[in-house]
Amino acid sequence: MGSFPKSHAIAVGLLSCALGSLAIFPSNPASAKLQVRKLDLAVEAQPLPPTEEEWHATSTFETPSEKLYTATVRSGDTLSGLFKQAGLSDRHMMALLQGHVESKRLTRLYPGHTLTFSLNEEQQLQRLEYRSDKLNSFSFTRAEQGYEFEESQRSPDIQYAVRSATIEQSLFLSGKKADMDDKLLMELANIFGWDIDFALDIREGDSFKLLYEEAFLDGEKIRNGNILAAEFVNQKERYRAVRYVDQNGDAQYYTPTGDTMRKEFLRTPIDFARISSHFNLRRKHPVLNKIRAHKGTDYAAAHGTPIKATGDGKVVFAGRKGGYGNVVIIQHGQTYKTLYAHISKFRKGIRSGVRVKQGQVIAYVGSTGLATGPHLHYEFYVNGAVRNPVRVALPKAKSIQESEMARFLEQTQSLMAELDNQTSPTKLASADTSHSASL
Ligand SMILES: [Zn+2]
Repeated sequence: MGSFPKSHAIAVGLLSCALGSLAIFPSNPASAKLQVRKLDLAVEAQPLPPTEEEWHATSTFETPSEKLYTATVRSGDTLSGLFKQAGLSDRHMMALLQGHVESKRLTRLYPGHTLTFSLNEEQQLQRLEYRSDKLNSFSFTRAEQGYEFEESQRSPDIQYAVRSATIEQSLFLSGKKADMDDKLLMELANIFGWDIDFALDIREGDSFKLLYEEAFLDGEKIRNGNILAAEFVNQKERYRAVRYVDQNGDAQYYTPTGDTMRKEFLRTPIDFARISSHFNLRRKHPVLNKIRAHKGTDYAAAHGTPIKATGDGKVVFAGRKGGYGNVVIIQHGQTYKTLYAHISKFRKGIRSGVRVKQGQVIAYVGSTGLATGPHLHYEFYVNGAVRNPVRVALPKAKSIQESEMARFLEQTQSLMAELDNQTSPTKLASADTSHSASL
């Protein structure tokens, strides 16, 4: 689906559950677009089988007496099979495997990685290079006895880049205009996701800017790195975040004054889901036509959509429970409890007593129990009392420790200043290496 026509949105919205109330339709086209984009993102690129052209003798490193063959590993390939494709026998393979202890690495092949065979005129293996990406490879070169092993790790050049945009139609279209890829945009949304609901809160006129790393190899951009600092203005409210790696090596986003962006709970258990029915303790049931509380929030989502635990905690129930159908209940410390209903399937290993982490997938959307269509019914309890998951004040996670504060300010103030420097060119000077550790 390329767009999300209003008639479709309404049709989905009408899927209310018996625990649910009348649907409330989103008026904001950005939310629909986000859902569409999210579906696109879910499709992962499959490594393609090598074409005849890829399976070729290259000339770059060739000496007159050597021939090079490069093969891209496909799912199901074996080392023996790849040797055969290069015109080599199992005898050649065994010679290499016995020729150096590190050759045991070749017993694990990953799709998309490449093997380059160098053969001499007698069709003997002179050198084999295994490359997992542009930066990492290892090789075996024939020696007097056996093979010599060499490992190569290159580091990319890191540069800073700045992007900014004002939202006109949707976050994703604005991101595209600002020359940002989907992954970078998702990371931006994740940084502010505790404060801003990217499905419901985004409005025309909202704006954002970010300072992030770009990795270059031999002058060619190979990927984006981390977002280092960012600002998002949502409905005139300004949110700012900066990345900081603490003395334990843990990277997190904080406000410029050292409060963590993260909260103890995610606002929603599904990415960019649309609310089809709100929390309402005094609503009239559409079917029963009498007052019956809707104790949670319904999120419209396709059957099988992953459901995430909204906070760290312990599963206290995973099973069937009347109108809820299949349900997971998680206890978070003494105070909080969350409930996820109408599940089609539990994630493997999710059962009573198991500890879960915030953001961990625990189950998949379905329509078990009293539900007229697939959706997630989500409830939030504070000290045993049910609360509106959309509006409840969420407890903040820990802020920066006092002992880290000086270091934090020293490292992050320049990043915020860089972000605020609107007149700076898009490409800034090369970053220092302290920011490239995770690349
Ligand atoms: Zn419901």
